[in-house]
Amino acid sequence: SMASPALLMRVVASAYSVAEKAATIVRNVMAAGDLGIVEKTGANDLQTKADRLVQMSICASLARKFPKVTIIGEEELPADEVTEELIEDGHCEEILKKTCPAQYTGIKEEELVIWVDPLDGTKEYTEGLLDHVTVLIGIAYGGKAIAGVINQPYYNYEAGAGAVLGRTIWGVLGMGAFGFQLTEAPAGKHIIVTTRSHSSTLVNDCISALNPDSVIRVGGAGNKIIQLIEGKASAYVFASPGCKKWDTCAPEAILHAVGGKITDIHGNSFQYNKEVKHMNSAGVLATLRNYDYYASRIPNTVKQSLVP
Ligand code: AMP
Ligand code: MG
Ligand code: MG
Repeated sequence: SMASPALLMRVVASAYSVAEKAATIVRNVMAAGDLGIVEKTGANDLQTKADRLVQMSICASLARKFPKVTIIGEEELPADEVTEELIEDGHCEEILKKTCPAQYTGIKEEELVIWVDPLDGTKEYTEGLLDHVTVLIGIAYGGKAIAGVINQPYYNYEAGAGAVLGRTIWGVLGMGAFGFQLTEAPAGKHIIVTTRSHSSTLVNDCISALNPDSVIRVGGAGNKIIQLIEGKASAYVFASPGCKKWDTCAPEAILHAVGGKITDIHGNSFQYNKEVKHMNSAGVLATLRNYDYYASRIPNTVKQSLVP
């Protein structure tokens, strides 16, 4: 008889459905019109009702199914009882049918850490730049991002009525990534994607030093990785602290699953064990291809300003 699916595949299959439920909540909160905005550290660090409800939904849904997994979410919330209507207990059947990469078949619940960004691109969400928003569920094992789900709740919203709204991208190291068309950026062009709402002199100086053909400024770490894997940009460059482990875990797993690379600005890989510092203090450098071209051109002065 068929062996039951490996834990990792069951977690990814559930995370897929949980992320789709999350996307529905993100759209419903916006449609209802009361965003309930709260400033966390300041005016550029916001939390909305959607961030709160989605975090409750994702964390409670996954914890119920996988009680021994460590789940770390971005938002600090009171330990309220989560209402049943926020719980998603479904899973994606297609993911369950896939073969788990051999190196991950023996993973146990206590060995997994799930990093949750319930709503990445909150600033843009509050400003109506809806396709910048993503829901990020990253899965780590042995300190490495090995699987991830990115839901984009407003994918296609500019296509208007009739277009299917929203999509879910997922990937596992050693298996690949699905739910989008992998596309390389135009050959010989240096298109940099970076922050829209968290710029600084250092962020801009670093980009100038790379002498890009063009610069795309959009919100969200998840959204910027999508720009890389769909060939809209050739490098994601962010020479600043601010981005956290829940911003990079799911994007890293998906980017690495298709042969890309993400590190801090020094070239250090990110660690995702449960004890790790949340802040990615030394920024972000990511590409689908030609990582070394960009890494070798980051100025030393920029590196010296960013302590890991
Ligand atoms: P951005 O590219 O500006 O959308 O940032 C990517 C992710 O990092 C988002 O989740 C931001 O909220 C977060 N982030 C980046 N810089 C900062 C900052 N200075 N303060 C708070 N969050 C930040
Ligand atoms: Mg975020
Ligand atoms: Mg967030």
